[in-house]
Formats: sequence, structure tokens, C-alpha cells
Amino acid sequence: MFEIVLSLCMVGQPDLCETRLLPTAAQTCADAMARVEMIEPDWGADLVADGYDCVARPQTALTFDEIAPGLYVHHGLVADVAPENLGDVANIGFIVGGESVAVIDAGGSRAIGEAVYLAVRAVTDKPISHVILTHMHPDHVMGADVLAEAGARVIGHRKLPQALAARADTYEANFARLIGPGFIGSRVPDEVEAMETDQEIDLGGRVLDLVARETAHSESDVTVFDRQTATLFTGDLVFDEHSPALDGSVLGWLRVLDALGTPVPSRIIPGHGGPVLDWPDGVADLRRYLEVLRDETRAAVADGLRLGEAIDSVGQSEAARWTLFDLFHQRNVTAAFTELEWE
Ligand SMILES: [Zn+2]
Repeated sequence: MFEIVLSLCMVGQPDLCETRLLPTAAQTCADAMARVEMIEPDWGADLVADGYDCVARPQTALTFDEIAPGLYVHHGLVADVAPENLGDVANIGFIVGGESVAVIDAGGSRAIGEAVYLAVRAVTDKPISHVILTHMHPDHVMGADVLAEAGARVIGHRKLPQALAARADTYEANFARLIGPGFIGSRVPDEVEAMETDQEIDLGGRVLDLVARETAHSESDVTVFDRQTATLFTGDLVFDEHSPALDGSVLGWLRVLDALGTPVPSRIIPGHGGPVLDWPDGVADLRRYLEVLRDETRAAVADGLRLGEAIDSVGQSEAARWTLFDLFHQRNVTAAFTELEWE
């Protein structure tokens, strides 16, 4: 558990300090500093550790709303990852059962994981038995270690452990660069249980159904259905307001969108936007985007366009409909083009 509260300040900017709860196991101030330098060597000279005796709590408080009995949702910012948001750009949920709590996704940094832990503790003392990661992307997984240290099992798609292991260095380096010193102590979780089959998790009189999906948004998408309230957590299989991001298969994603309706959810919690959407109206914009992407990419291939030409033309009718379109759309066209080029 957590016994060290470390405060790190930027040299020359003493007002810019970050505090972190660090696990007891072999963690010292020096270890923590070494880890910072491993992730981002440039920071070493700029950071001063303020000792362990700092009593400050993590600075980031996250708001969770109880949107159904015992079911809490945090609305992540619809924004790119940045120092001021510490990677708080994806929705996070937790569900309280009779015996224990399950957390769904864990945010983009250890700081966010700490804030999730504290938010759960503000509601209940029941143990956090599970952290369910809806997929591999760093804005959803970097806070998971905090909850694992608090005793939770981290669980995900059968392909998740391998997918994370293969990308850990890249994800950590990218997020370190985007977030800066606020990323301290964060890392990709390395003890993730793979779901060999779909699973039921019983929190004590409250059962969650975890379903592993075919490659869609990513190769590691899992949905979580709370039977008591028929609430479906979709992870990034549903985007709202925030530009969709395709890192899997556009054809698979369209199939999975249809499959999300069985059993019929009373509401859905998307990975970005919302955070509470009606079914099926809440996925209409995403479905239209994916159909435009599929159809116009196929047309570009049929017309003999090269990828660079397709990027400039495909899906431009969608530009005004999504926040962060410019950040994600070109990559989506590249992914769709690669998928559909040889079909
Ligand atoms: Zn994602």
C-alpha cells in the first residue's frame, strides 16, 4: 500500500510541484527519481525531490457522478493529453456491489489513478477487487498500478497483456513527453490477467458481464455490462463529440457496433464524450463517421488514389462534427486505407 508521499518540484519554479502516493515496496525517493530519469532523462536536472515528509494529498480531484444506483462515472476531458490535465482525457467508472468494487479504466497517469482510488474511498470502504481495462490505449491504463497496489486484479482482453508489453516503452515515452513531470511514477501495468473467455464478475449480488470483442477500435476491446442497471461501458468502441480513433479494423468496428445492442442496454458509457448516452441514438454519429470512412476509402482505392491523396479527400464532410478531428482523422484514413486496399 501507499506510505510514501513524494513531492517533486521544478527547479526555478518552486510553485510547480507534483505530489504522488508511491508504493512502499522498495520505493524510495531515489528510486522514484531514477524512474523519472529513465522515462525522461531531460527532467532529471530540473526536478528536486522534496522528501517523503510532505503531507500533501494528490492535487487532482476527480468528480464522479452516481448516474445509477451504485454506479459512478467520471467525464474525462474532451482534449489532447497535456500537462494541465495529467492525462484525464478518458471516461472512468466504478461499480459498487455488495462485497466489492470494480473500476472500469484508470486514466492516463498515476496521478489520475490516485484520484480514482480516493474517489472510490469517498464513497465506500469495500475493497476494490477488479480494475477492468477496456483496451490497451495509454489514456485508459496508466493509472491501473495504483489500484493494483490497493489489491485489485487488473483484467482485460486476451490480447491485452501482449499488446501492452509490445507498446509499453512507446506509450510511456509519449505520455511522459505530453504530460511532463506530472507523469512521475506512471507506467503501463505489467500484471494484467488475460480473459481467455467472456467472464462474469460477481461483486456480491451484482454481476458484471465482460465481453471480449473482435478487433474493432483496437485489437483488445472489452465491454462491461452491469446487469442490475443494464448499463453498458463500451470503452472506445463508442466515441461522442471527441474524434473517433481507429487503431484496429473499420469493418470489425461496424460489426461490433451492431453487437453492442445485445442485450439491449438502458444506457451506454462511451470512452470519450457523453458520459451517459442513450442506446442506440448515442452511437448514430459514430456509425455515420465509420460508414463514411469505409465507403469513401473504398471509393478512393477503386479510383486508384494513393494513400496521400486519400488522406486529403476521405471523410472531409465529417471535419466540423468532431472535436480533435485534425489530430486523429488522418491516422484513421491511413488505417482504413491499409485495411481496405487489398479486400
Ligand atoms: Zn482508445
